Amino acid sequence: MSVLADRFGRVATDLRVSLTDRCNLRCSYCMPEEGLAWMPREQQLTDDEVSRLIRIAVEQLGVTDVRFTGGEPLIRRGLTGIIAAAAALEPRPKLSITTNGIGLDRLAGALRDAGLNRVNVSLDTLSPARFLELTHRDRHADVLKGLAGAARAGLTPVKINTVLMRGVNDDEAPALLRFALDHGYQLRFIEQMPLDAQHQWDRHEMVTAEAILASLEPYGLLPDSVSRGTAPAETWLVPGYVDAAGNPARVGVIGSVTRPFCGDCDRTRLTADGQVRNCLFATDESDLRGLLRSGRPDADIAKAWQAAMWGKRAGHGIDDPSFLQPVRPMSAIGG
Ligand code: SAM
Repeated sequence: MSVLADRFGRVATDLRVSLTDRCNLRCSYCMPEEGLAWMPREQQLTDDEVSRLIRIAVEQLGVTDVRFTGGEPLIRRGLTGIIAAAAALEPRPKLSITTNGIGLDRLAGALRDAGLNRVNVSLDTLSPARFLELTHRDRHADVLKGLAGAARAGLTPVKINTVLMRGVNDDEAPALLRFALDHGYQLRFIEQMPLDAQHQWDRHEMVTAEAILASLEPYGLLPDSVSRGTAPAETWLVPGYVDAAGNPARVGVIGSVTRPFCGDCDRTRLTADGQVRNCLFATDESDLRGLLRSGRPDADIAKAWQAAMWGKRAGHGIDDPSFLQPVRPMSAIGG
């Protein structure tokens, strides 16, 4: 089998598939309240096109993990069918989804039955009022229901992604961890990255991994002896707590900006309109949709995907004076 290798010896085995650039929330660090100019429908890959690309990635390019994201992947109509098609592949990839959780309480069982293994749910606050302020939608209770529904359906471990912002929710780190521990969810804090559509990210305003860990000091976190491998999160053990499976409870911090892990990156990304991105911060993309729609065989598509990954840069370069934020915002790349 061929693999998705790059010039620095990394091999991508983890595919992030964005299923739509649309979202039913308007998180202030992601997109403006009025939304964005959405991708025209005809530019979006059809369900069959997405499934074909996932098949090529798994069967011909060594991809072992597929994560569906967006935008909000739960609003993609064909989601269950896309998951079922991916679950039928050999070798069977691990399948997960990153979602805001809205509607997950209703969908979790069907997604599990289709073959989904796990979910990451984004939750930045425990306060419904703050949630409304932050996301411009009054859906906090729906997210909590979604988390509970995922756990009930066995889409475990249920992970929570949290972005902290200074003066907005950075006082909530200990309470969010307590909430996760009490419910058997695994919490991961993610440093805010320069990927907002508004281009308002400010390094000096960002809550750093160091600050997050300092605010969790009362928990007496201990270093985790389990190797991080290619996972973006550094994890710590939370003494006195166990997770839903009875293992020592952990909390993660994804220090994408201040503690980059590009040297271990094993990710390749596919946008909802069929562009391969070899990095979240890539400024160029490789068009697979054009190849699909001009009737090219799988082998040509696989070759183009390999070429796209070969050009991956050593690091995201956020600290370089020449750093340019990608034109696509996070919601259109797929987080
Ligand atoms: N709608 C889904 C969700 O809410 O999880 C999937 C897409 S969302 C873009 C994926 C993740 O990216 C979320 O956890 C969100 O908080 C995070 N995110 C969005 N913009 C970000 C930014 N500028 N920096 C860091 N994380 C960001």
